[in-house]
Amino acid sequence: MKKCKNCNLPETYETIVFKDDSCNLCDERSGYENIDWDLRIKELKKLLNKYRKNSGYDCIIPYSGGKDSTFQVHYAIKELNLKPLVVRFNHGFMRPNINSNSERFLKKIGVDFLDFSPNWKIVKFLMEESFRRKGDFCWHCHTGIFAYPLRLAVSLNIPLVIYGEPQSFHSSYYKVEEFEKENIEKFEMLRTLGISSEDMVGMINERQEEKITLRDLEPYTFPDEKEFIKKKILPINLGNYIKWDVESQVNIIKELYGWKSDELEGVPDELNPYGSKIECFMQGSRDYIKFLKRGYSRITQNSAELVKKGTITSDQARKLIEANEGEIPPSLDLFLEYIKMDKEDFYKICESMEVFPHKRDTNKNYKISKKTKDFDKWFREE
Ligand SMILES: [Zn+2]
Repeated sequence: MKKCKNCNLPETYETIVFKDDSCNLCDERSGYENIDWDLRIKELKKLLNKYRKNSGYDCIIPYSGGKDSTFQVHYAIKELNLKPLVVRFNHGFMRPNINSNSERFLKKIGVDFLDFSPNWKIVKFLMEESFRRKGDFCWHCHTGIFAYPLRLAVSLNIPLVIYGEPQSFHSSYYKVEEFEKENIEKFEMLRTLGISSEDMVGMINERQEEKITLRDLEPYTFPDEKEFIKKKILPINLGNYIKWDVESQVNIIKELYGWKSDELEGVPDELNPYGSKIECFMQGSRDYIKFLKRGYSRITQNSAELVKKGTITSDQARKLIEANEGEIPPSLDLFLEYIKMDKEDFYKICESMEVFPHKRDTNKNYKISKKTKDFDKWFREE
């Protein structure tokens, strides 16, 4: 597989384009650094003046308890002087450390918090279906964390919704200097994997004995478009208005609220210095599926970021990738238990989703990665 000589991202990475031996995603970073941030913050303050209210909430902040959304809430309250309603779409796999981070943070900062957990039976149906169809079991989470807060924005008449990282940080669907709009087009392009709620109902009812209706999928469905426009719902990404600096943001939430990082299944600690993706105990399995389909995992992605930042060299990254990538995550057993699938079927499905020119090396014996300390606390059905 062709890989970027600088960041090591391979040709199976979405939206990657090579120029000579390096990739477009390496190039685009400099565009972000060169944005006039003084001007951007002025634009944000102008915009906020239109959305501030005298009663109720000024905005909704979708929140997981991870590093980014914790910072968003902090910034909105302390720097922008907003009164937000913090909303969590609970995907069902919150890890103990994230729950205690959240409790400490929300109590310390003092904010109203709404925690929504969707029907677990439906979550399992959605996981199985999106895994079988797309080799990605996260349809419920990717749609829910966007659709649910936006539906609340419509029904509670709180038009401003503040997200964090723009998509342009991870792919080149958008330009780094662009103000990304969280509208139905973006939702359908990036969140639904091309499967609408209507299609999902049909597919699930074909496979499962217990039947569902469109009503069961409302938390995952983009709000009615007419209402969305009429009520002038405006979702923004904070990273389009202030320069997103993960390192200093993590330092701020650690210092002020005692936010704690955690281990990440299958990823050496040195490759996750800021605590990315520590919200979800299924993350290791998600990354493993990506490795089976595309030949790279979180290890490659995180090391690419650290190489661009200058924390490690390309060579060091290559050694760490070689030594650690492809290990089997202990969480995989839980995933297969939830959706009642055996390992043989699992590997067959992943194989059918391989992205050219990646081909899984079936002769190589990968070991099982180390269980994280909280492994025994993850939800088991039996
Ligand atoms: Zn690159």
